[in-house]
Amino acid sequence: MIIDQHTDLYGVVGYPIGHSLSPVMHNTAFQVSGLNAVYLAFETIDIDDCLRGMKALGIKGLSVTLPFKSRVIPLLDDVDNQAKRIGAVNTIVNDNGRLKGYNTDAVGILKSLEEELIDLSRRKCLLIGAGGAARAIGLTLKEKGTEVTVANRSIEGGEKLARFLGCPFVPLRDIEKTKADLIVQATPVGMYPHTEQCLIPEYLLKEAMVVMDIIYNPPETRLVKTARKRGCRTITGLTMFVYQGAEQFRLWTDINPPISAMKRAVKEALNIRDE
Ligand code: NAP
Repeated sequence: MIIDQHTDLYGVVGYPIGHSLSPVMHNTAFQVSGLNAVYLAFETIDIDDCLRGMKALGIKGLSVTLPFKSRVIPLLDDVDNQAKRIGAVNTIVNDNGRLKGYNTDAVGILKSLEEELIDLSRRKCLLIGAGGAARAIGLTLKEKGTEVTVANRSIEGGEKLARFLGCPFVPLRDIEKTKADLIVQATPVGMYPHTEQCLIPEYLLKEAMVVMDIIYNPPETRLVKTARKRGCRTITGLTMFVYQGAEQFRLWTDINPPISAMKRAVKEALNIRDE
C-alpha cells in the first residue's frame, strides 16, 4: 500500500504503549480490506492535547488504553451509553470533528464466550479482579443474566465493584467457598514476564467448568494450561483481544472486520504457530 494524501490515520494512545499488539492487528485489517489507512502507536502522557490533535489533524479513530480509559470521558463530545455505564472508553470515533467514545471490551468478552456456545443465563461466574476490565465484564455478564461473584485482592475495590453490580464479594483467600461453573480471570497476574503466577489453586478447577483468562501475553497463561489439563473448557484473552479490536474496526470503517486475518496477525506477532 502506498501512503499518500488520502491515507486515513488511526492509532492507539496510552502509556506505556511499547508492547501493544493493536498496530499489527489493525494494519493487517486495513490491508486485507483494501483500505488506504494506517494505524500507529502514540505513547503519550497528555490525553487532553492528544484529543485536540485528533480533531486538528483529522485522525479518524483512536484506541484508548491505560491509564486514560476513564480520564478521557469528560473530554469527548459524546459517549455511548454502554461505555457510560462501564465508566471507561477504549475506542474513539472522529465523526467530522465530533469525538464519540465507545467500549468494545463488552463485545469482546461476549463474543468470546458465545463462540463456545455458553448459555450465560445459566452460569455462576467467579469474576477475579475489580479493575476496568472486570467492571466491563461484570456488567456484561449481569446483563445476560449470569450470577456473578466478585473476588479481589483489595477488599475496598472488590466491594465497590460488587455494590455496583449488585452481587456478592469474596476476598481472594476465600474463593473456594464460592460455587462457580465459569471463572473469568481479569487481573494482570500471570502476564509476561511473570508467567509462573496464578491466583487460582489447581484443586478448584473442575471438569465441566469454563475458565477464561483475559491476559493475552502469554496467550496460554499458567491458569489456562492448568485448567485445560484438569478437563475445563478454556478461553484465552487473545480471543477477547481480537473481538474487541474487530468491533473497533467496525465502528471506524462501517465494514465487516476480517477477523481471521486479525487473529493470525496477532498470533504471528506473539510467535504462536497454529496447531
Ligand atoms: P486495572 O484496572 O489496573 O485492574 C487491575 C485489577 O487486578 C485490580 O482488581 C487489582 O486488584 C488486580 N491486581 C493487580 N495486581 C494484582 C496482584 N498481584 N494480585 C492480585 N490482584 C491483582 O487493569 P484492567 O484494565 O482491569 O486490566 C486487567 C488485565 O486485563 C490487564 O492485564 C490487561 O492487559 C488485561 N485486558 C485484556 C483485554 C483483552 O482484550 N484480552 C482487555 C482489557 C484488559 P486491587 O484492587 O487489589 O489492586
